[in-house]
Amino acid sequence: MTYDPNNVFAKILRGEIPCKKVYEDDFALAFHDINPQAPIHVLVIPKAAYVSILDFSAEAAPELVTGFFRAVGTVARQLGLEEPGFRMMANIGSDGGQEVPHLHIHLFGGRKMGRMISKD
Ligand code: 5GP
Repeated sequence: MTYDPNNVFAKILRGEIPCKKVYEDDFALAFHDINPQAPIHVLVIPKAAYVSILDFSAEAAPELVTGFFRAVGTVARQLGLEEPGFRMMANIGSDGGQEVPHLHIHLFGGRKMGRMISKD
């Protein structure tokens, strides 16, 4: 899938639309989801043009892959999610329910998440 530079997270990265930032470093930006599905719902995105884990894992420089996943862990710790735990999720493509075509990891916390995924 070709990366669309006009997707909403690309606009957030360029500062064209605002976000409630929780963390930023050279590799990643984290911000609160606009429509939270849990008491804590934060998105972590790489500062580079990748649609999903598919192109990211295949094409991104090792420093970016490492930096991005380190940032995900840093954000989870910073949000105090280490205990009692949290859910980390990435939607990919149509069946995965991906709405925004820029790689993002959802971090959900602040309540029990239940078992796995919904059946509908
Ligand atoms: P997806 O379904 O692609 O995995 O998740 C996209 C997420 O982005 C959704 O949870 C949605 O609420 C969130 N989102 C969409 N537009 C915006 C926005 O402009 N700002 C923020 N902070 N979140 C957004």
